[in-house]
Amino acid sequence: MIVKPRIRGFICTTAHPVGCAKNVSTQIEYVRGFDTISGPRNVLIVGCSSGYGLASRITSAFGCGSATLGVSFEKAPSENKTGSAGWYNNAAFEQRAEQAGLYARTIDGDAFSDEIKAQTIDAIRSDLGEIDLLVYSLASPVRKHPRTGEFYRSSIKPLGKVFSSQTLKFDLVSGNAEVVDIDLDPADADEADATVAVMGGEDWEYWIEALQEADVLASGFETVAYTYIGNQLTWPIYWDGTLGRAKEDLDRASEEISTKLTGTNGRANVAVLKAVVTQASTAIPVVPLYFSILFRVMKERDCHEDCIAHIHRLFREQLYSNQTKRMDEIGRIRMDNYELDAEIQSEVQRRWSKVTTDNIADLADLRGFRDDFFRLFGFGIESVDYDADIELMIGH
Ligand code: NAD
Repeated sequence: MIVKPRIRGFICTTAHPVGCAKNVSTQIEYVRGFDTISGPRNVLIVGCSSGYGLASRITSAFGCGSATLGVSFEKAPSENKTGSAGWYNNAAFEQRAEQAGLYARTIDGDAFSDEIKAQTIDAIRSDLGEIDLLVYSLASPVRKHPRTGEFYRSSIKPLGKVFSSQTLKFDLVSGNAEVVDIDLDPADADEADATVAVMGGEDWEYWIEALQEADVLASGFETVAYTYIGNQLTWPIYWDGTLGRAKEDLDRASEEISTKLTGTNGRANVAVLKAVVTQASTAIPVVPLYFSILFRVMKERDCHEDCIAHIHRLFREQLYSNQTKRMDEIGRIRMDNYELDAEIQSEVQRRWSKVTTDNIADLADLRGFRDDFFRLFGFGIESVDYDADIELMIGH
């Protein structure tokens, strides 16, 4: 089939298998440009198929030589419908890992469920024995609670009062962009609680409990979960909103997990990462305007990182380095130091206060944002022939 992007808002319902494989290869080549990191032997990545989870898997495997077990929830292809991008990313990763003689296995299903946790533990027992690192990189809009059966849907909303802001109305197909005003209604208590149930730390704790009970955690086992804080322009919709409340719960869980791991000399970390275009982040209102201004400023100052550059730096300089970790007052690892640099932020703030539909092309990196978005689904990559008739039924 000839595969073209099919876009609705900030969603693309098709994915190009060859383009996705190319994305995976590009990330692998990036990592191979560095010296090997003396890192973990066996790594479990929950949310392994795209964004920061995929970058963590690639860094573990090709940067540290680790065996990787991944969990993700992706859509398989059919004869006339493409699979999801994450499906093709997993297939490409596994193929490259096999060629490199690296163990790689992916479990496809709902990571929130007890069944998938049990399947993962079986795979660890039969193939690896134990794991040294769990990267928790889930981003999901829904969760069926494994113990109550209740179904939670997250809401990305402010808390307390209406948030009025400017935002980007971006037609990704034509590239037309407008800066428009938006009023975002606050969440009610149920919506806030549901968001914490989906994106908070409880499931991370359940993973650790299950792994600990199964006795598959190596001595010195570590776990890391990812969070975002950003700056005051997005705080009302992010850090001070429902998502921030869920991320605060991740901080709570991190402390609880660290306590549980003291017996095996292990610890839990939350790492604060920078803004990048992923399927999860583009769904947040107001954020694409901030991101596209930020990317332009960071690129002009030569400190912009994509997922793989950022995660490789996390492993190289923080998780598996002898340097003292860059921690904040509550013990999170701060990787957002370039994004939050005072000079970067004051320039973003300056542009934010004067951006309009007429000048946005000069102040923001619309092109980069759009390219990143298309690339998530394997489109817009130079060396790929998008008129070629290709096989969709790729993957396990
Ligand atoms: P993403 O959308 O690229 O990846 C999400 C992953 O979760 C995919 O592998 C997907 O298959 C998996 N997933 C979703 N629901 C699942 C389920 N029920 N069972 C199994 N797997 C499931 O997202 P991302 O942006 O890389 O986000 C990963 C983490 O990084 C999140 O915690 C996010 O808050 C954090 N983070 C993101 C940014 C950003 O700018 N994108 C910045 C800082 C932190």
